[in-house]
Amino acid sequence: MEWCVSMPKIELHAHLNGSIRDFTLLDLARALGDKGVIDFSQVEHVILKNDRSLSEVFKLFDLIHIVTTDHSSITRITKEVVEDFASENVVYLELRTTPKKNDSLGMSKRSYVEAVLEGLRAVSSVDVAFIPYSEEPINLSSPLSDESDKCNGNTRKKIFVRLLLSIDRRETTEAAMETVMLALEMRHFGVVGIDLSGNPAVGEWITYLPALKFARDQGLYVTLHCGEVSNSKEIHNMLDFLPERIGHACFFEEEHWRRLKSCNIPVEICLTSNIRTLSVPTIDAHHFVDLYNAKHPLVLCTDDSGVFSTSLSNEYNIAASTFGLGQKEMFELSKNAIKFIFADNVVKEDLRKTFDSAAKNLD
Ligand code: 5GP
Repeated sequence: MEWCVSMPKIELHAHLNGSIRDFTLLDLARALGDKGVIDFSQVEHVILKNDRSLSEVFKLFDLIHIVTTDHSSITRITKEVVEDFASENVVYLELRTTPKKNDSLGMSKRSYVEAVLEGLRAVSSVDVAFIPYSEEPINLSSPLSDESDKCNGNTRKKIFVRLLLSIDRRETTEAAMETVMLALEMRHFGVVGIDLSGNPAVGEWITYLPALKFARDQGLYVTLHCGEVSNSKEIHNMLDFLPERIGHACFFEEEHWRRLKSCNIPVEICLTSNIRTLSVPTIDAHHFVDLYNAKHPLVLCTDDSGVFSTSLSNEYNIAASTFGLGQKEMFELSKNAIKFIFADNVVKEDLRKTFDSAAKNLD
């Protein structure tokens, strides 16, 4: 496990509210309980329950959102999530979250995202680079440059963070479009793409398609939760859209695999999440093996490290021990993810240097 923690890693599928620390969730719930907004004794056991089906997970998210959706909580969670990923040597994090509106709290989708940005600025334990270089001239004396780290004797950790705004499958076409417009406005703060997520048993592909097409036309990247339930027609439609990446791919049939492989669409693999939600029968039967052996582009991710009590290091450890992969193979798998990130070439180059330098420490 130790080398899984120490090697540099790239996280491309992490939902902000799903990555909340248990302690923070209980803390925020207790505070709402004290104010009489919720009955803490009723929610405590729901929060602490470990095994949940996919539909139970979405019930938990509704509860989490009651507890977390105010500006200061979103700022706190963002700060903690980035610190947690950085502490296990995640060097590039694409964090996704669904912008939420709550009139009673004076929250708009825009102010929600601003609270997330505030969280990124509040991180103090590590240097966070979230403003794209294209927006900020490269400053060679920046603490985020490896060279300057050496010159200044600066050994602080650094992490690149980019944001994806999620469309929830419960949303209307208009609400989805509002999220895409917001993503476009927030590009200079490191918003690079759009994710489609939320309960896969809800909603229709056709509802989100106009917003997703618009996002693509405007140059945003798109990743889709795809094949989390058996829905052959929707999987076809999603693959026909040619997203830049997809997440999960648990309920694919032969023809879907053929299409996915012929289009070479990278897959975000979330082992613990898929097992916990019973989306795959057993870990040995996970489609990771087939994709890995076929050299199909894939990346290991956490999905919801808080809800599923995992970490990215743990996901690497599970893959290594279940599928008999060694340290070198896991390192290559991790480094390979650089190709699928939604950031620019300057970031990719910086990450390659980080991995090359870490490679010298491999046994
Ligand atoms: P948030 O967007 O509020 O930061 O993160 C939680 C939300 O992410 C959930 O309400 C849900 O919409 C989405 N989400 C988290 N995990 C999953 C998952 O495994 N599958 C899908 N489809 N959506 C998820």
